[in-house]
Amino acid sequence: MSFLIVISAPSGTGKTSVVSSLLQVDPNINLSVSHTTRPPRQNEVDGHDYFFVDRARFQEMLKQREFLESAEVYGNFYGTSRSWIEEKMAAGKDVLLEIDCQGALQVRELYPQALSIFILPPSLEILKQRLEQRGMDENKVIERRLSAAREEVSHVHKYDYLIVNQDLQETVQQIACIVRAERLKTIRQLAGQRELIAQFA
Ligand code: 5GP
Repeated sequence: MSFLIVISAPSGTGKTSVVSSLLQVDPNINLSVSHTTRPPRQNEVDGHDYFFVDRARFQEMLKQREFLESAEVYGNFYGTSRSWIEEKMAAGKDVLLEIDCQGALQVRELYPQALSIFILPPSLEILKQRLEQRGMDENKVIERRLSAAREEVSHVHKYDYLIVNQDLQETVQQIACIVRAERLKTIRQLAGQRELIAQFA
C-alpha cells in the first residue's frame, strides 16, 4: 500500500540535497515534480526540477482542477499535479512531495495517512549564511525568504516528524528509517501479506 511523504523546510535548509540523496538510497520513492511560475535558476532544468509555466497557464491548470494542492510562495505560484500522483500511487510507488506548509496542510486534508516531515536548519544564522552563499537570489529575495522561514517554522508542530539538518548523510538516514518504519506498519502490510496470514487461519 503506497503512501505520500511530504517534506517541508525553510528555503536554504538543504532540502534539495537531502531529497536527491534520499532518492538514491530508496529507489521506491518517486519525487513529484511541481509546476511553478517562478523563473528557472541557473542549472535548473524544465521537467526535472520543476515544470516552469507562466501565470496564465498556471491559472488555467488551477481552473481545470489539475492540482492536488497549490500555494503562493514568495510571490510565485507552485502546484502538485494530481494525475501524476494518482498514477504513481496506483502503481504502488511511494511519492515524495517537497512542498511548503500551506501545501502540506492541503495534502493532509486529502490524505490523512500521508507521512509528513519538517526539516529545520541548525540555526537561523546558519540558514542566513546558506542563503547568502547560494548566491542565486538577490538580497531582497533573501530577506523575504528569511521572514517566510519564520512563518514556515511556526507550523512545525503540525508535522509527524522533525529533523534538524546538522549533517546531510545523517538526515538522509533518518528520513530513510522513518520511511522504512512507515512501510512496516501493519495497516500497510496487510494487503501484501494476505496469503501468508491466511496460512495461519
Ligand atoms: P524554491 O523556489 O526555492 O524551489 O521553492 C520555494 C518553496 O516552494 C519551497 O518551500 C518549496 O518546498 C515550495 N514548493 C515547491 N513546489 C511546491 C508545490 O508544488 N507546492 C507547494 N505548496 N509548495 C511548493
